[in-house]
Amino acid sequence: MNASVYLDYAATTPVDPRVAEVMSRHLTQEGIFANPASRSHMLGWQAEQVVEMARRQVAELIGADPREIVWTSGATEADNLALIGFMRANRARGRHLVTSIIEHKAVVDTARALEAEGFDVTWLTPGRDGRVTPDQLREAMRRDTVLVSLMAVNNELGSIHDLAALAEIAHQGGAAFHTDAAQAVGRTPLAVGTLGIDLMSLSGHKAYGPKGIGALYVRRSPDIRVEALIHGGGHERGMRSGTLATHQIAGMGEAFALAAAEGEADQRRIVALRDRLLAGLADHPGVHRNTDTDVAVPNILNLAFEGVDGESLLMALRDVALSTGSACNSASVEPSYVLKGIGVPRALALSSLRFSFGRFTTPADIDHALNALRHALDGLRRRAI
Ligand SMILES: *Cc1c(COP(=O)(O)O)cnc(C)c1O
Repeated sequence: MNASVYLDYAATTPVDPRVAEVMSRHLTQEGIFANPASRSHMLGWQAEQVVEMARRQVAELIGADPREIVWTSGATEADNLALIGFMRANRARGRHLVTSIIEHKAVVDTARALEAEGFDVTWLTPGRDGRVTPDQLREAMRRDTVLVSLMAVNNELGSIHDLAALAEIAHQGGAAFHTDAAQAVGRTPLAVGTLGIDLMSLSGHKAYGPKGIGALYVRRSPDIRVEALIHGGGHERGMRSGTLATHQIAGMGEAFALAAAEGEADQRRIVALRDRLLAGLADHPGVHRNTDTDVAVPNILNLAFEGVDGESLLMALRDVALSTGSACNSASVEPSYVLKGIGVPRALALSSLRFSFGRFTTPADIDHALNALRHALDGLRRRAI
């Protein structure tokens, strides 16, 4: 075990040991390793059973029919399939897509690719709380709008969208509603029926499952059409070909079953951890909240440390794993497009750190991070004077 404290759960989570145990049963000769598409022997049939069990576990968490779950390599691929697949399949009806400037790059860059393909995109700017309002969406809707894509929980801020209200407006305008819910699994309720979701992107590794597996929920009634991006054996009802990764899928299924059973309890515990961190910084001057904690999941907290360079702070916090509010390009350090997008001033954005907590975070981890933070801040501020 290393001594470092991991506060970067929004980047990825460790695999829950119970998930790893399930996965290990689907790799070797002794386990159920066969190709789930093999129809000519019992071993293939058993593998198919494993995949279908996991499909039910994922469907159950979001209140879907298992036939509405399409396995992908992750949320990135699910976002690509949702946006490109839907816009291409529905181009006769309209060419307009509405999304926001603080979506994950998997949506932002895909929407840009659609623009290059001749589709029209409206880019909404959320408020300082990291949320697009229903009124903003209503104003952006056009006669030729066919799809609205707005994320469930923002990965840098933790802000939660009012999906039910936003989906209702999309539907009133005759458009379908897609949400990237990679950060929401086990953190917020995700019942697709209640919320009115038509397409939902999911990822295994943000919810204590393995990397390299995800899914797209595709509503069956009314029928939502997406054109395949990956062609081959016609797996997943023709929407996504490729041999199913039995061990990854079994792991994601178990992770989602655990999220359904334990997500709420995890989040209740995490509220106390976040508040412990905030309380520990209360007497420190110049600490600003980029996260509006009233409308955010408790496991993500984005803070700006006025007058302190985020990268230097990160360096000084060597044994605490965190993310900064910036992105390093080859030429320069640029503030995060998300922080810029909600109007955080450039200097503050470059002074920002994202703390994200999870199932295995302890109060001792928070205290360790607080001590390291106080020490680092004192050092950096002293040097600045
Ligand atoms: C991590 C993440 C993704 C990408 O998911 P992968 O499974 O790693 O492809 C997409 N959207 C959001 C909001 C994320 O946090």
